[in-house]
Amino acid sequence: MAAVVDEDQCVACESCIESCPAEAICMKADKANVIKEKCVDCGTCVDICPSAAIRLE
Ligand code: SF4
Ligand code: SF4
Repeated sequence: MAAVVDEDQCVACESCIESCPAEAICMKADKANVIKEKCVDCGTCVDICPSAAIRLE
């Protein structure tokens, strides 16, 4: 599993980047981008995203 961002939903607030304990998210073309190899499936970003743009799959 890994966190996946729905780019249409992402409002580029960067909250997920700040909250990720694994530093697995960066901005790419003004959208959050998860580096799957670094994601530890903790779900923190899913919980913190204000626009429900991230899910674990
Ligand atoms: S699930 Fe956890 S480790 Fe993975 S991107 Fe989200 S906050 Fe980071
Ligand atoms: S928290 Fe959600 S809206 Fe904010 S940058 Fe991350 S994915 Fe985008």
